[in-house]
Amino acid sequence: MNYNIAVIEGDGIGPEVVNAAIEVLNTVGKKYKFSFVFKKVSAGGNAIDRFGTPLPKESVQTCLESNSVLLGAVGGPKWDILPGHLRPEKALLGIRKELELYANLRPARLLPELKDACPLRKEVADAGFDMIVVRELTGGMYFGESGRRDGKYGPEAYDTECYSALEVERIGVTAFELARSRGKKLISIDKANVLESSRLWREVMHRLAGKYPDVELSDMLVDNAAMQLVKNPKQFDVVVTSNIFGDILTDEASQITGSIGLLPSASLGETKRGMYEPIHGSAPDIAGQDKANPIATVLSAAMMLRLSLGQEDAARDVEDAVSRVLAKGLRTADIAAPGDDILPCSTMTKAILNALK
Ligand code: ATP
Ligand code: MG
Repeated sequence: MNYNIAVIEGDGIGPEVVNAAIEVLNTVGKKYKFSFVFKKVSAGGNAIDRFGTPLPKESVQTCLESNSVLLGAVGGPKWDILPGHLRPEKALLGIRKELELYANLRPARLLPELKDACPLRKEVADAGFDMIVVRELTGGMYFGESGRRDGKYGPEAYDTECYSALEVERIGVTAFELARSRGKKLISIDKANVLESSRLWREVMHRLAGKYPDVELSDMLVDNAAMQLVKNPKQFDVVVTSNIFGDILTDEASQITGSIGLLPSASLGETKRGMYEPIHGSAPDIAGQDKANPIATVLSAAMMLRLSLGQEDAARDVEDAVSRVLAKGLRTADIAAPGDDILPCSTMTKAILNALK
């Protein structure tokens, strides 16, 4: 088996962490008898510098012709002064749209080896948690009608939330399928006591539940969910929610796991092709210094193996290798406790590769 992967190294620490993930993929591929062809494509700030646009057409084409996309991070202060249509972040929105990636999956798992980094109460951290948020990514408030107008008492601004039953259904299917492959528990988060779009959301989720009798569906209001996430995160397994609620709750969920340098993500659509990237940004403050934590990107590669390439054993092997390295006490700067030796990105990567063999 041979997989074509489009690789967007991006900016800042992007190239460092992506190269770590590529080495891990090559190594696990050898072990499980599959291989990769990585095609590097330009997007983000470096593409603006070289081609005058954050997302050249050829880059999109390469992504469309690949089994999946692996991305580091885009952006940085160098490009912050540019006008909106020329910002590096436009590359991400462009790829999501072109590849129709409407489902954003973000696991938030407290690695047992890093319980001390968890900001929650000790009993809560000791109990651990392992959830995954499925966020709708291409609809809702962020894509609804918005504007300004003259109101009775002066200028007004408005944003509208609109979801079609079809949009809710397709994200629902992603979430139910995922729940079926995990703990068979799905929590749908909405604001159905106030919002009509949430009432439609809830109706569609419950209709779908009929097709997944093995999955237990429950609803939770978003304000309660925000509270429950810090109070008792263990109750969550798979969570499904709208674009705006997911945006807010995934940031909250990521923070309770410790470091931003650990968390992977996947963006999926109707096909097997996905885009995989760490949730962190380009970290310009540490770029080019071999200080970044490669684990978030390595775990993103594991998600790619599982969700797009169907290589579950290899995915689990990569995750286990990361756990073993952490269990040995190996730490990059972002996860080090006072007194710990601090490893560079390249040494952490080598340790993961050794743990894999
Ligand atoms: P963006 O707007 O792209 O999300 P940001 O400026 O909000 O970017 P990051 O680039 O993620 O945020 O950086 C936030 C902080 O986390 C920085 O101090 C950065 O050095 C640190 N950081 C981010 N990723 C990593 C990593 N992989 N390893 C270590 N530290 C990291
Ligand atoms: Mg940010």
